[in-house]
Amino acid sequence: MAEIINGKLVSQAKREELKSRVLRLNEDGVEVGLAVIIVGNNSASRVYVNNKKKGCEEIGVNSFEYALPEETTQDQLLDLIAELNEDRRVDGILCQLPLPKHIDEQAVINAINPQKDVDAFHPFNVGHIMIGDYTFLPCTPAGIMEMLKFYNISVSGKKCVVIGRSNIVGKPMAMLLLKENGTVEICHSRTENLKEECLTADILVAAVGKAYFVTADMVKDDAVVIDVGMNRNEEGKLCGDVCFDEVSLKASYITPVPGGVGPMTITMLLENTVRAAETYKLAE
Ligand code: NAP
Repeated sequence: MAEIINGKLVSQAKREELKSRVLRLNEDGVEVGLAVIIVGNNSASRVYVNNKKKGCEEIGVNSFEYALPEETTQDQLLDLIAELNEDRRVDGILCQLPLPKHIDEQAVINAINPQKDVDAFHPFNVGHIMIGDYTFLPCTPAGIMEMLKFYNISVSGKKCVVIGRSNIVGKPMAMLLLKENGTVEICHSRTENLKEECLTADILVAAVGKAYFVTADMVKDDAVVIDVGMNRNEEGKLCGDVCFDEVSLKASYITPVPGGVGPMTITMLLENTVRAAETYKLAE
């Protein structure tokens, strides 16, 4: 039976560390601030934004919410970002995705000052992640690396298979595993023999977005299985990409959903916000 990787526990430990870093900044006269922009009435986005604000409160970071109506134009949103880029109270700018269809998401991401891009989605920061020399870590993959470290799971020399090649999870995940000297393979919807590829993994990361996609016959004995998926099953219950009940009998470590990767993502957003203040404000 696999050991459960408890994302809430790792997240709590990290938030304690962040709290003391914020206090240290405050002692140096530096306040830390995160601006959160939400456009429209997406209920899932509202939950994420509320959790981000709560996380800020918990560690002593000021949060500034900008809730804009669905019909906000791209120019109006870009004007707000331009203002926030100049706002000294704001160390991090987060624009909750997805945006309404009439707004070009990449144009919005590109408008954020890379020094305030705490999601690490701006091409400048993506480039730095590729080089392996970065200020901002991509939140979800960074949270996974933090969990592996907490449980003393070494990546070096291990075969790592990432299912999913999105810009926010799969690709940066592969880069962080590579930086830690893993031998990394990225799989996607066109991969042939996916099951055989997955069976080679010492560390298997599932970022597919399909409920119960990874079954026990795709997992090697004693593999470490990380489930990034956040899906609803037929009963409307939150579930991951991994068939937890059967895979946990085979794996050595596994992350549950909920309570695994999810709590870490917001914590790493807070890490990036504190890091922005430490790197750019303190240095002024
Ligand atoms: P995404 O952009 O939809 O990417 C999904 C990836 O899965 C794509 O690369 C796709 O391949 C691949 N895929 C789809 N069907 C496949 C199949 N049959 N076989 C192999 N690969 C397949 O999703 P995402 O944004 O990366 O998110 C993935 C999941 O993680 C979602 O459930 C999302 O909600 C969750 N998530 C969780 C957190 C968290 O904090 N816990 C954060 C972000 C995302 P192609 O590229 O070929 O289409």
